[in-house]
Amino acid sequence: MPDLVVAGAGMAGLAAAAEARGRGADVLLLEKGDRAGGSMLLSSGVVWRHRTFDAFREECPDGDPALQRLVFERLDADVDWLVSLGAQVTQPDTGNARTTGVRFDTRSLTDVLLAAAGEPRLGKPLREGPDGAPLVLATGGFQGDRELLRRHVTPEADHLMLRAAPWSAGDGLRIGLEAGARSSAGMDQVYGRNMPAPPARVGPADFVGLAQLYARHARVENERGESHDAATWSEIDVLQWTARQPRARAWFTVEEDALDEPVRDRTVRDLVDAAETAGAPVRRGDGTVTVETVAGVTTTLGGLRIDERARAAPGVFAAGTDAGGIATGGYSSGLAAALVFGRIAAAAALES
Ligand SMILES: Cc1cc2nc3c(=O)[nH]c(=O)nc-3n(C[C@H](O)[C@H](O)[C@H](O)COP(=O)(O)OP(=O)(O)OC[C@H]3O[C@@H](n4cnc5c(N)ncnc54)[C@H](O)[C@@H]3O)c2cc1C
Repeated sequence: MPDLVVAGAGMAGLAAAAEARGRGADVLLLEKGDRAGGSMLLSSGVVWRHRTFDAFREECPDGDPALQRLVFERLDADVDWLVSLGAQVTQPDTGNARTTGVRFDTRSLTDVLLAAAGEPRLGKPLREGPDGAPLVLATGGFQGDRELLRRHVTPEADHLMLRAAPWSAGDGLRIGLEAGARSSAGMDQVYGRNMPAPPARVGPADFVGLAQLYARHARVENERGESHDAATWSEIDVLQWTARQPRARAWFTVEEDALDEPVRDRTVRDLVDAAETAGAPVRRGDGTVTVETVAGVTTTLGGLRIDERARAAPGVFAAGTDAGGIATGGYSSGLAAALVFGRIAAAAALES
């Protein structure tokens, strides 16, 4: 029997397995998909935290402060650990004055973590709870399951776009709850981006580049003409609002003179043009341009309730998106939480 079973070879599971192997443990790493890396591999790779703990609390007021404190205090050292393993930093900052962190090349991040974690068994999902060895659940949340999204998040679940790897369908949540864990706060909350609406064709390679991240420069309306004012820099409020509107749709209308506003290293115009090229319905006229968008869900924010040692139930630990209650009420880096709690979970599981 292995010393530890880890379910999921994405950010949290690879960090957990690498940590455990670094401590000399024999690890069984199971991966449901046909490749390692999960949604991490598709991500922008920005591992970040808020600049102050107060800012973290202010932006995610309903999250568990003790868990948030751990992410806040441990992240910088954990990023150094990734760098020490050889992960390639492509940008030494986040490009956002509110946050601090680095951007990694996600292929390199996956490869160095795999080298430290050992090869996962691909196409081998964990189906049942613990069987003697302690278990780390790191299956990446439940955004891949329409039924769970309908139950917890929105009646419009059938219309959502999945902006993530396809395999994270609530297995960790189910197995954890069966083992006696409780669910966290914020089961109805998701993170994601408004994306070009069908018939636009949006593949995994477009998840970052096609994100329509300019609601702050637009009038945002649903199909009944009801509007929503963007309230957060991450525009998570816009995504969550859109997810609950008819057909999970929102129309972004931009005045001509706002088209040159910068959005990270691009402009509103670039993003509108990219949506149109991808095939989204775009209307131009009267000095405005209107893009039809759909809510693209990246991760769920609710999950299993964990303590400061990542314990969810006897012998069962959870990390990454499977562990809820950290970003509740707002948004914080999913990669950061997965990294920090992946390592904590492995250490605690080996001591259990
Ligand atoms: C386009 C995009 C951009 C993003 N950009 C950023 C960013 O810049 N910064 C940031 O912080 N976050 C970002 N994220 C979010 C980030 O990728 C996630 O928060 C992070 O990957 C969560 O880590 P995880 O280990 O929980 O899940 P994942 O990395 O998705 O790993 C979960 C793994 O578990 C596997 N799995 C599922 N079920 C089972 C099972 N039963 N048994 C075994 N394995 C299973 C899955 O196949 C997957 O490999 C982005 C995501 C996307 C898609």
